[in-house]
Amino acid sequence: MKVTNVLGLPQAFVDAVSVERHNEKGCYSATTILHGACETILQERHYDEIEVDASDSIWAVFGSAVHSIFEKQNTGTIKEAFYSVPVSHSKVTGRVDSYDPQTQTLHDFKSCSSWKVIYQDFDDWYKQGMIYAWLMKKNGVEVKRCEFIALLKDHSKSKAKVDQNYPQLPTYIYRFDVTEKALEEIEKFIFDKVAELEKAELLADEELTPCSKEERWATEDKWAIMKAGRKTALKVCSSEEEAKSLMETMGGTDIEFRQGESKKCVDGYCVCRNYCPFYKKMIEEK
Ligand code: SF4
Repeated sequence: MKVTNVLGLPQAFVDAVSVERHNEKGCYSATTILHGACETILQERHYDEIEVDASDSIWAVFGSAVHSIFEKQNTGTIKEAFYSVPVSHSKVTGRVDSYDPQTQTLHDFKSCSSWKVIYQDFDDWYKQGMIYAWLMKKNGVEVKRCEFIALLKDHSKSKAKVDQNYPQLPTYIYRFDVTEKALEEIEKFIFDKVAELEKAELLADEELTPCSKEERWATEDKWAIMKAGRKTALKVCSSEEEAKSLMETMGGTDIEFRQGESKKCVDGYCVCRNYCPFYKKMIEEK
């Protein structure tokens, strides 16, 4: 990955964000397996051509800083252990932040926005923790519980004071127990994903199936009931049928289609978007 430096930041900063390629070809880490196959394949294929700017990589610096602080603590836990399991013709890998053999608890340190806690948006962490637990079990290490220690980068004490639904502290723990049933489910997820990745590896860029709606962080399409002479919608509906059925009773004059947005692609959270057929088509159509 080429790291540009538009702000002329000190070399130490640029070096800190210039991460080495994590995985060898055919190896899929617990975090990459959670991305869309299209994104994973394009990132692997175009890794050396992709450009990111150092100034735009501050959250990666944050994440690395958090990890190296906790890595240095002497707490009798196993830190940064690497696990690998062959699946089909590939390998699934994971580096676990910390594991306490006494309590059989896995810890992962994260920095994130308070919104993640407000929306309880933990599906990615759940799957990541379960993939680690599965990898460890396959390597003879039992995990009973996963705990994600989240440091909320944008936490506001003043908001916490006036809103009981806002995270009350700048640190949050997302935890869950690892069950046999959950291990079976994640094994199916891993096998399906590896099969999808191996199939996608054989396709040219233009033939790749776009990432799913969930993987693209896509918002839903909406249909707004409008009234002539009024700027705002009378009602925003989730289907055209609903909008049509309500229009007359609400006194609307027309229906406006509002296309959902693939936020990961359009807001620049996917570094390989310039090589992605879905993104290129979307830009062309706009
Ligand atoms: S631009 Fe969007 S669809 Fe394309 S690889 Fe990235 S996340 Fe997936």
